[in-house]
Amino acid sequence: MKIALIAPAWHDPLWESEKEKSIFPPLNLITLAALTPPRHEVTILDESLTDIDYNAKYDLVGISAMTALAPRAYEIADAFRAKGTTVVLGGMHPSALPEEASAHADAVVVGEAEGLWQQLLSDLEDGKLKPVYRPEERPSLEHMVHPRRDLLNRDRYLVPDTVQTTRGCPFACSFCTVSRFFGKSFRFRPVEDVIQEVAELEGEVIAFIDDNIVGHPGYARRLFTELARLPRKIKWFSQGSLNIARDEDLLRLAAASGCIGLFIGFESLSPGNLKAVGKAVNRVEEYREAIKRIHDHGIAIEGAFVFGLDEDDESVFEQTVKFAQENRLEAAQFGILTPFPGTPLRETMEREGRITCNDWREYTISKVVFEPKNMSARTLQEGFNWAWQEFYSLGSISRRLGLVKKHAPILWALNLNIRKRFYHFLERIRTGNFTLPRPSLAK
Ligand code: SF4
Repeated sequence: MKIALIAPAWHDPLWESEKEKSIFPPLNLITLAALTPPRHEVTILDESLTDIDYNAKYDLVGISAMTALAPRAYEIADAFRAKGTTVVLGGMHPSALPEEASAHADAVVVGEAEGLWQQLLSDLEDGKLKPVYRPEERPSLEHMVHPRRDLLNRDRYLVPDTVQTTRGCPFACSFCTVSRFFGKSFRFRPVEDVIQEVAELEGEVIAFIDDNIVGHPGYARRLFTELARLPRKIKWFSQGSLNIARDEDLLRLAAASGCIGLFIGFESLSPGNLKAVGKAVNRVEEYREAIKRIHDHGIAIEGAFVFGLDEDDESVFEQTVKFAQENRLEAAQFGILTPFPGTPLRETMEREGRITCNDWREYTISKVVFEPKNMSARTLQEGFNWAWQEFYSLGSISRRLGLVKKHAPILWALNLNIRKRFYHFLERIRTGNFTLPRPSLAK
């Protein structure tokens, strides 16, 4: 069979890629391609980089989507189905709402595709495709296939080498989709398997696409030790929780293995908010010291903060930005609380009648789609806009980065790029175009 696997494009200036180069390749799709028996021919279509040819003949189109991309995924699915092509939908959003996705697909894959995908292909060949595929249990990460990177044009990605080492997160924060999709128990690949995959990569910089690379400190310690022993020195970055700062040895190993940056979810400076969302791993009183320790090991931090939690009032924006500036975070991502389908947060807000928008296109964490408790929706949106503008002002960037910081050119480029994206976003808001434009479908 001829199979196309499609990653729909973002159409929010804060998150969309440049047409020439995207940041990361779609690791999920090249993993799916590796699970596909070699008798089939697979094409990867990353819509951020290439227009989709709806006249191309495929026996099967597979599309993966998170919530904000679901409407675009449905448009693409409908266009292919109108031409008689079989379409399968999967990923976070179709897994959370399989009935909704079913209206746009011949089959929906709920959860992780390992095991299911091969069955689905064989059912399709036998003319016995089922409407929904659900796993009986979560797949083991032992002997995982290595993604088909040969199907990508690596020149079109800023960080073409991405690797996943773990799945799942033990913390289950109420706003997060990760533990619902991947489970609360932590699964990890054998360290030797990860090392073998890393050794096959060409680039010097690797992104570990884990939700929390230090979620299991024992595993992280073994992984970092082996990474440090690789004959070819690499640099890497990933997402990690703050517990890394409590473990000096783990920090030292991370730095020795090439860690140059961590994306860390601080989420809030309010202990009450953290308790309410279940982020027990974070202790506000430790934040400053934790940042210092991580910085002392030469590791940059992109801090993630959520606005609109129930204890937040209009003072939250200035307080948070000041904290991020004073602690010289190399980058920050401010997000508006968003009740994604499948999360406990959404169930609570639905019960409380606080959800004001169900257009998934607005679920970009840059729009207010619910009624906040201690401020108006407008104040929340304006505060969010102000926070980005202030944190990424030129004065703020130069105060945070200084002139002598490690990896300064990369960090300056990152900050200026984020600043540019934010101004595009702001322009769209100022022109009154709050609803994101619909991308065109080729005829
Ligand atoms: S710690 Fe991070 S990945 Fe884990 S549930 Fe909380 S927000 Fe999600």
